[in-house]
Amino acid sequence: MRLLEFEAKEIFRRYGIPVPMGRVIAHPSEADEASSELGDEVVLKAQVDVGGRGKGGGILFSKRERVSEAAKELFGRSIRGVEVKSILVEERLEIAQELYLGITIDRSSREVLLLFSREGGVDIEALAAERSDAIRRLHIPPILREMPPFAIRELTGGKPKGVGEIVSSLYRLFREKDAILAEINPLVITPKGLFAADAKIIVDDNALSRQGIQMNRALTPREQEAERHGFSYVELEGSIGVIGNGAGLTMATLDLIAQSGGKAANFLDVGGGADRERVMHAVRLIAGMPSVKVILVNLLGGITRCDEVAHGILEANVPQRIFVRLAGTNEEEGKRILAVKDYTMFETMEEAVKAAVEAAS
Ligand code: GDP
Ligand code: MN
Repeated sequence: MRLLEFEAKEIFRRYGIPVPMGRVIAHPSEADEASSELGDEVVLKAQVDVGGRGKGGGILFSKRERVSEAAKELFGRSIRGVEVKSILVEERLEIAQELYLGITIDRSSREVLLLFSREGGVDIEALAAERSDAIRRLHIPPILREMPPFAIRELTGGKPKGVGEIVSSLYRLFREKDAILAEINPLVITPKGLFAADAKIIVDDNALSRQGIQMNRALTPREQEAERHGFSYVELEGSIGVIGNGAGLTMATLDLIAQSGGKAANFLDVGGGADRERVMHAVRLIAGMPSVKVILVNLLGGITRCDEVAHGILEANVPQRIFVRLAGTNEEEGKRILAVKDYTMFETMEEAVKAAVEAAS
């Protein structure tokens, strides 16, 4: 789960990473008081869980005497479709240069990956695509509790002064908070020293209870239903509904869809031993998404029996075309059951994905 900027900055502060002075408000009437100690120029930052917030109109600069009007204006906006419910009012920093510092997990090498760039402030993925050499990368084994000084120097080249302490604090925080991403973009150089002008922390969803964090976002009705049925379910942007069993197989299905030029509408893992009832609910849940044009069911029978799955698909009786790949226990029986209607059956995952992607485009 991604923390809001002010929550992440609160954690930064506890770890000794310098952040601008500021306060969070929930209403324009609080803006005056909140900014009383901030100097003549202030920044208002919408606390919304979206990327590209600045470009989306989520940041306003204002004179302090006009802060109430600015707050009113920002509360009235929606940032990339998200309502503004709280605003962080901060001192305006005098920025000389913007840097980038990020820590994440490299799943392919199973190591911690640190990224540093002297060209921060911009979209780091775009920078990586266009000018990859502008980003310095360092892999370190995840067992290290502290960043060794030589590794910090390798990452940053020792400049600017003070950056080493920030790298080492961010690394400690990354580990202790069970983060999968800790990012400062931009980390800014000002006449008063280095500051984290922005803060992004994504905590591993599996560690939320250990971290004592509650989901800061209400579940959508569909997410609530998925939770009731015990499905692992995530909504995405595409038009191909996906149902799989097992996280690995379902992820592999999503990867294959992306490689084939398609876009998945969701991730849904029905779990082990899915009976007809569960499969029916899963298919109906996915079919209920307005964005879903076709549905791809990719199930491996083991504990799960293909005939049960087939009955579930049939009973769901949804309008979208369903592309099915069933393999394993009672496979032939499953195929026979589905042969009554024009479901499209496939022997391999590759063929099923290819057909679904074509049908959806
Ligand atoms: P994001 O769009 O959500 O990533 O928002 P950021 O907090 O990263 O801000 C986007 C940009 O606004 C930064 O890269 C800065 O150029 C600018 N900005 C943010 N805070 C300040 C500030 O206090 N002073 C100045 N001068 N610029 C700021
Ligand atoms: Mn930013």
